[in-house]
Amino acid sequence: MQQVFVNNAAIAIPSAEPTAINSSIQVLGVAGSLQRVTVSIDLIHTYTSDLRIFLIAPSGQEVLLVAGEGGSGDNFISTTFDSDAPTAIAGAAPPFSGTFRPEGDLSLLNGSDPNGQWTLRILDVAFLDGGQLNRWSLQLTVAEEPASQFSIDVRFGGGLTAAQRAVFEVAAARWAEVIVGDLPDTAVDSEIVDDVLIEASGVAIDGTNGILGQAGPTRLRNGSLLPATGVMEFDIGDLARLEADGGLLNVIIHEMGHVLGIGTLWRQKNLLTGAGSANPTFTGINAMREFGALLGTSAMTPVPVANMGGAGTRDGHWRETVFGNELMTGFLNPGNNPLSRLTIASLEDLGYAVNYSAAASYALPTQLELAIMGVGAGSYGHWHCSMCGCYRGSHHGLI
Ligand SMILES: [Zn+2]
Repeated sequence: MQQVFVNNAAIAIPSAEPTAINSSIQVLGVAGSLQRVTVSIDLIHTYTSDLRIFLIAPSGQEVLLVAGEGGSGDNFISTTFDSDAPTAIAGAAPPFSGTFRPEGDLSLLNGSDPNGQWTLRILDVAFLDGGQLNRWSLQLTVAEEPASQFSIDVRFGGGLTAAQRAVFEVAAARWAEVIVGDLPDTAVDSEIVDDVLIEASGVAIDGTNGILGQAGPTRLRNGSLLPATGVMEFDIGDLARLEADGGLLNVIIHEMGHVLGIGTLWRQKNLLTGAGSANPTFTGINAMREFGALLGTSAMTPVPVANMGGAGTRDGHWRETVFGNELMTGFLNPGNNPLSRLTIASLEDLGYAVNYSAAASYALPTQLELAIMGVGAGSYGHWHCSMCGCYRGSHHGLI
């Protein structure tokens, strides 16, 4: 994808004595790294060989565009510098209209971060003769994020409104940002599944509160033990309440994480140590690296797993008293529940190909922040994931 940035503010190039002028373009919010840079200028000058023109990238790296060309001729009119151009600017004639290969190499900037201040620097090294920079532009081609090869197919089994079904689709798209690698097509009951098929439904269980439902994988792939199918069943009474208070999307993303294996496949993959004890930990190498990074150390550090909260919560979530509002703790907090690099790392440990740039910003909470969240209170009022244990540790059917 190419993006064009322009500075139309004219700047005079004084004629009396040697001078230097700078013109800048601020580039902000461009995602990805540079694949290609070209520069276009419109510049009036009555003696072009007086000029040395440089592009300075946000990193400070300078590329010489042109120096001392054109003799006593006039102007650069619609001149584009492109390191892939067949014709060199050296030896070309004013007004240099067209596309030319610069004297330096713009491709040296490929792979760098496009964001920050770009500067066109013009040196007029001679007395007499001047002119004006009329405008210049940068054409930046940025590598796009590769499309995810991972898809979750949600099949709706009734009991869900159109608005609720749409939230499942948003949640599936969120996980496809996080998991990007394809899993092999696999046959389940003579149906081809690519990559995960989830049957989602709303069922009447016990009204508001109490049992919320259940979610987890139902059939695992041979070998990788990654899920091929899963189920998400919600109590209709609780769905309406969650929809009303704005928490439904986070809940569905969270529960879909359990279908993908978070907390549900840790034992099968030998990633859980100390289950049932006061200090269960997750010991995948990627998650241990990310927990260390959250602590500010490069040491691999076992990740604290929920040690309370009943069978549906303990041993299957990150520990709430350490991780606060992270999405995959056992309690959903009001407002923001970030899906952190830690959770993405745990999916890599399970065997998925992941994309860390899909992580939400997250830092470990302070004790004060945990206290304000109400973590540790006996009647902790936030939504409690009590459903996930139904499939965790139970006998998963293999394909
Ligand atoms: Zn849960």
